[in-house]
Amino acid sequence: MGDSMSDMTGKINLLGLTLQEMEKFFESIGEKRFRAGQVMKWIHHYGVDDFAAMTNVGKALREKLEAVAEIRGPEVVSEDISADGTRKWVVRVASGSCVETVYIPTDDRGTLCVSSQAGCALDCSFCSTGKQGFNSNLTAAEVIGQVWLANKSFGTVPAKIDRAITNVVMMGMGEPLLNFDNVIAAMKIMMEDLGYGISKRRVTLSTSGVVPMIDELAKHIDVSLALSLHAPNDELRNQLVPINKKYPLKMLLESCMGYMATLGGKRVLTIEYTLLKDVNDQPEHAAQMIELLRDVPCKINLIPFNPFPHSGYERPSNNAIRRFQDLLHHGGFNVTTRTTRGDDIDAACGQLVGQVNDRTRRSERYIAVRQLSADAELPDSAVRH
Ligand code: SAH
Ligand code: SF4
Repeated sequence: MGDSMSDMTGKINLLGLTLQEMEKFFESIGEKRFRAGQVMKWIHHYGVDDFAAMTNVGKALREKLEAVAEIRGPEVVSEDISADGTRKWVVRVASGSCVETVYIPTDDRGTLCVSSQAGCALDCSFCSTGKQGFNSNLTAAEVIGQVWLANKSFGTVPAKIDRAITNVVMMGMGEPLLNFDNVIAAMKIMMEDLGYGISKRRVTLSTSGVVPMIDELAKHIDVSLALSLHAPNDELRNQLVPINKKYPLKMLLESCMGYMATLGGKRVLTIEYTLLKDVNDQPEHAAQMIELLRDVPCKINLIPFNPFPHSGYERPSNNAIRRFQDLLHHGGFNVTTRTTRGDDIDAACGQLVGQVNDRTRRSERYIAVRQLSADAELPDSAVRH
């Protein structure tokens, strides 16, 4: 719970508490546990941030809550809605950095792409977030706060049948497994009925491959898993995803398979593969990938590279992308290519803007174009074949 404490006020921010933590909190202030459910509903179903609005909570308790607690969502710097329904928020977190949240509607679902860190320490060679260095971990309240404010923007109604947000992907800025406790807490709230009631199949954590934390994940939660593969052999992956030097492919795939086994064998791993022109998009790479993933139940999601200034990489031609997809398809894989959405509000892949105060490199604060990870599970109707 310590992480949920507010820096500025010393009050505990109830937004980031799981049901269990909320119950503990009420016990700690000498109140009944059932208050936890009441207050969670107000916060997450009704989008309330003011204790005074909680009509089924007595005045004395409301005053007590006001003295020790608060409900503080992230500060919204901007909100944009695209002609195609994509929405994008820039929010400022406690460290002063800004991160982004994107909502992507398709025919049968609404996917929210959530950030877990301001910046990222892992420095993947083609990722603009990595280029910004690491600034800070988001608190649990800052992670779930992105869902909270997106949900509010749809005029939250409790027990709404047509929920606007049906899926959440931890594919915004940052490596979620390096902000483990806060990301776990936030994902629990996403799935709890008194939170957002999103099915475990529809909450996806994407990782570049922090093996010990993938192993740890299964002890805490059963969300879907996406692996950022990007290269079919260790030599190339060492260059593109440097954490591979520590946790090479064989170890990584074993760890992912171990996690998937704990989910009961009904779900498959999502493999994300960013296509970089002449780097990892050749037929030989497809052939190696087919070999590598032969025994891994998975679906493959190709992400054409989203260029940003001075990246040194290019997006392959549509023909090259199609060729790569076809080779994998003929190799027996379920493979889709991610589409670009929200162009008019710069929310499309490769256009996300984040501002990070870089501690690791002491560079000037700057605006960097970063990629949007859209949906790990776009429906077939929305993907290019
Ligand atoms: N840190 C986590 C999740 C965030 S990134 C991870 O790496 O998995 C979400 C996805 O977008 C990852 O697969 C990431 O490798 C990919 N990505 C990063 N920069 C990109 C770019 N410029 N173009 C296309 N995909 C990119
Ligand atoms: Fe970090 Fe993911 Fe970007 Fe790699 S791809 S630098 S892990 S955010």
